Amino acid sequence: MSLHAGAGDRPAAAGGGNGVVPGGEPSKPAVGPVAAAMLTSQHRLRLNPNKDHKPDSYEDLQLDFTPAIFSSLERYLPPGMLGVNRDDKVKFMREILLKYLPHGERNRAQRHRDYRQKIISNYQPLHREIYTLHAATFFVPSFLKAFTDSTEESFRNIMSEPSPGIFTFEMFQPRFCDLVLSEVENFEKWVNEAKFRIMRPNTMNKYGAVLDDFGFETMLDRLLEGFVRPMSRVFFPEVGGATLDSHHGFVVEYGKDRDVDLGFHVDDSEVTLNVCLGKQFSGGELFFRGTRCDKHVNTGSQSEEIFDYTHVPGRAVLHRGRHRHGARATTSGHRINLLLWCRSSIFREMKKYQKDFSTWCGECLREKKERQRQTIAVSKSELLRNEGESLG
Ligand SMILES: [Zn+2]
Repeated sequence: MSLHAGAGDRPAAAGGGNGVVPGGEPSKPAVGPVAAAMLTSQHRLRLNPNKDHKPDSYEDLQLDFTPAIFSSLERYLPPGMLGVNRDDKVKFMREILLKYLPHGERNRAQRHRDYRQKIISNYQPLHREIYTLHAATFFVPSFLKAFTDSTEESFRNIMSEPSPGIFTFEMFQPRFCDLVLSEVENFEKWVNEAKFRIMRPNTMNKYGAVLDDFGFETMLDRLLEGFVRPMSRVFFPEVGGATLDSHHGFVVEYGKDRDVDLGFHVDDSEVTLNVCLGKQFSGGELFFRGTRCDKHVNTGSQSEEIFDYTHVPGRAVLHRGRHRHGARATTSGHRINLLLWCRSSIFREMKKYQKDFSTWCGECLREKKERQRQTIAVSKSELLRNEGESLG
């Protein structure tokens, strides 16, 4: 089995924590005395958040990472940093976040911001009403109702979990699906007429478009905060579901003259939301093969990990990004899906200090159980030998 790991989008979407590889030693920042002292002595986040701390708002600042990242990262600051002024906190957290982006990546991030700006100032949207989140017109009533309580029970009422860690539910109204389809079509028409070269969603899809690049970034942030994060907090706490703070949102297109299928891969996300928007199609099933950490990404599947899912327009699938999957050929018609790759900068930082991922990696869990089985076998045989000796 060969697996295309990290089918990542290369542009640093919203400067968010994608493609996280620590970028070596941080350069010495020019900061005030308090922050400087902290940077040299304790340039580390705490492992568990301070849940009682109320973070500052960073919405009014022009920063190279989204304000929400700073607010959620603040709870992880070393205790002495919590009381310092906001500018010093920003400097400290920015320094940590920049470690994720080596110099080349930073230039790329700047070029990507320019690219996005160029599109947004030239493209005329067709349906402005879908660029702001209107829950009552976007979602089916059952989906919305589950968020009155936002409990495991209220979510389970509208969901099915056909295989462990894969949740499916009715989400978008048909009218909303049609509006998104028509907006994407209009955008692609504009791209072709303007002979504008666009970036495709990731390294694996040749067709489709990045929604964040033509004005949907804020709406998709609201979708993440108000809907995907509450569900992920309940179902995926072990992969940072409660602290999702950035996203990569795009549509993919399959069928004749489009991509046909998609190879076996993992997403560059902690949690992925995948919603079918239409249109008429056959084939295109998603096949899932169990969740794996980096080390175990190419190991075999257990029979209970094998699961196929058939798309239904308006219906969503929610799964861990590390849940290995692929899409079978769309054999007729056209299929368009909306994808939201949701990421947690905190989870990615914490992951560096961990080795055992048995709370979510099927193979880490299997190895752990095997170790336990051996320990029990050894103590049993020792016990029997001791009994034998005392009898003798
Ligand atoms: Zn593992």
